[in-house]
Amino acid sequence: MAESITLDLKQSFGDLNECVLVTDADRKIVFVNKAMETLLKTDADALVGATTERFFADPAQFETMAELYQSPADQRHRRAHALELKADDGSSISAEVVSAPLFDVDQTLSGLLFIARDTAERKALESKLSDIALTLEEALDAITEGFAIFDAEDRLIICNDQYREIYAHSAQAIFPGNRFEDILRFGLNRKQYDTGGLSDDEWLQERLDWHQAADGKVLEQNLGDGRWLRVSETRTSSGGVAGIRADITELKHARAQAEAAYRNLSLMADNITASVTEVDTDGRCVFINKTGCEWFNDEPQNLIGTRLRDTLPWKERETVRSLFEQAQKGEKVSTEVSFHFPDGIHRECLMSCNPRLAEDGTVEGIVVLISDNTDRKKTERTLAELYAITSTRELSHEDKIAEILRLGTEHFDLPFGIISHVIDDHYTITHAHSPGGELVPGTSFPLENTYCTLTLDANGPLATANAANSEFAKHPCHELFALETYIGAPLLVDGEIHGTINFTSAEVRKRPFTPADIQIVRQFADWVGHEIARQRDHQALMDAKVNLERIASVDDLTQVLNRRAFLERANTEVQRFRRTKRPFTAVMIDIDKFKQINDVHGHATGDEVLKLFSDVIGGALRAVDVFGRVGGEEFCMILHNTNMDDAMLVCERLRQKIIEECQLESVDQTVTCSMGLAAAAREDVEFSTLMQKADTALYEAKSTGRNKCVAYVGEPEKAAVL
Ligand code: GH3
Ligand code: MG
Ligand code: MG
Repeated sequence: MAESITLDLKQSFGDLNECVLVTDADRKIVFVNKAMETLLKTDADALVGATTERFFADPAQFETMAELYQSPADQRHRRAHALELKADDGSSISAEVVSAPLFDVDQTLSGLLFIARDTAERKALESKLSDIALTLEEALDAITEGFAIFDAEDRLIICNDQYREIYAHSAQAIFPGNRFEDILRFGLNRKQYDTGGLSDDEWLQERLDWHQAADGKVLEQNLGDGRWLRVSETRTSSGGVAGIRADITELKHARAQAEAAYRNLSLMADNITASVTEVDTDGRCVFINKTGCEWFNDEPQNLIGTRLRDTLPWKERETVRSLFEQAQKGEKVSTEVSFHFPDGIHRECLMSCNPRLAEDGTVEGIVVLISDNTDRKKTERTLAELYAITSTRELSHEDKIAEILRLGTEHFDLPFGIISHVIDDHYTITHAHSPGGELVPGTSFPLENTYCTLTLDANGPLATANAANSEFAKHPCHELFALETYIGAPLLVDGEIHGTINFTSAEVRKRPFTPADIQIVRQFADWVGHEIARQRDHQALMDAKVNLERIASVDDLTQVLNRRAFLERANTEVQRFRRTKRPFTAVMIDIDKFKQINDVHGHATGDEVLKLFSDVIGGALRAVDVFGRVGGEEFCMILHNTNMDDAMLVCERLRQKIIEECQLESVDQTVTCSMGLAAAAREDVEFSTLMQKADTALYEAKSTGRNKCVAYVGEPEKAAVL
């Protein structure tokens, strides 16, 4: 082999990493490159011209290789040989040697090119790799998720058993080297997937697009048997796709259950009249129910994420903050609070903060329950006050009714309170509580123009807090009086409809009426009905008493005071005289010859004369004078503030009047009377004495001819005769 060739070989293979050795046709070494030199641990130059025999651990192998030189026509191709070599230092080398014949231009064999590779190193690497692969497979099998890696051509490189199990219908197609798309198609044909209404092609395209994106996003994949997988695929550094699948069927069910439970919870939470919220450890709202939204006066999406307490006045905010602080320590706390809520309503509430704990016991959030006790508290207070009003003895029935009306306007927070008396179609205000007293008792309306028609028709309490948005809007009262708020109840007195009690306002009421309010107005109606009944009883009693007194003091026949009543009045007059020293005169009157009237015309006619006589005298006297029948046909008068002289004038006029007016057609006898007068003097402190004196004077009149008036002049003087 020419020198030039050696040079060429040097240039071609000198620095090659592969171990290269070239022999001539006589098996003599002509070239060894650096890598081969290193492999054989020898000096290249020393080898040239020698055979390779000394490097064969097994001389038989060296002999066998001779074939390569002997039948060159058959050796035109490369051949591979596994050789056991030994280096110059005696160490053995397992080598994979590829031989290639070298030909001259005339096609004669000029030598052989050997390329050797130390298989020990490769084997070690292979075993190492297989160890790694095994470890990897073991590792992959140990994980619960399905795992698969596809190469840049989308062919399966490796997957674990779980992957095959997950896609059991596709298992036959899951082998290294198979394309991802083919695995999918195979599975699709065997109903591996639930395509969710898409055609197989559409589904496949979507799935491939997702796979190609391999951006690590989570895909929830529904399988044909109802299972759900969570698939996440990412691009590998070598351009392939690594995917991991987790069975989330249970999770899905649990999530669906949780969602259903949450929906139920929300539904429940929305249907309770307390505010239910949950806040995170930072105090920000994460959940709020319908009532909460109403109180905090905004949509849930605007409230969630905010600190609800910031909408409360400063002092109330502080209360909430300190409660939260306690709850954050894991304590369940509750307290009574009084809040001005953003919807403009002030509520007396019970607020309880319940810490929600994570599995490790730390506080994750606080569930805050605020229940509105305003109505309950108000109802309690009102009932207590109603009891106080109705049980006191210090108030009259009228006062009690007025107080109940006032209490009602306060309780319902409405300006007008009315008690009406309904007779036929007339509605008359009997009691009213109104700003500035603008509603006047005695005012009447046609019943049909008042909401009370509805109450009376309903035969029970009725209320609206927003008439415009209710049936009340159709009622004439809405147009006539523009009352937007009404609560009323029928008033029964002794089981009969008497009228109504009602409370009204022209404003819409912020709070709707509660069942407790309905009970309260019913209670008011009961009590007012009771008071009216008692007032009526009382009046009847008073009337009876007056009647009784009248009966007891009036003479049946003549209807003038009887003797007892007259003497009582007479004593009053004496007392007054003692006090004032104002004079008065007592007069005894006796009808003349009355017995004769009885005897001639009968007792009944006598009675008629007595009546007429009383009428004439009684009608002629002043209201301040006192006149009574003190005996059969004997009468007595007290002429108030009248001295004897004036009394005599009065008596004479009366005597004359009797002659003129006390005459019955049926009686032919002229009725006359005699009078005895006695004026009250300083010493006359007892009426009986005064009466005796008048009687003495009367006797004088009788005995001196009758039909005359005689003044008592006192002893020892003779009574003066007029
Ligand atoms: P004198 O002028 O002296 O008074 O004569 P007199 O007839 O009136 O005498 P006396 O006083 O004795 O008679 C009174 C009579 O009046 C006696 C009695 O029967 C009668 N009398 C008393 N009360 C009634 C009564 O309620 N009705 C009637 N009809 N007669 C009565
Ligand atoms: Mg008489
Ligand atoms: Mg008489």
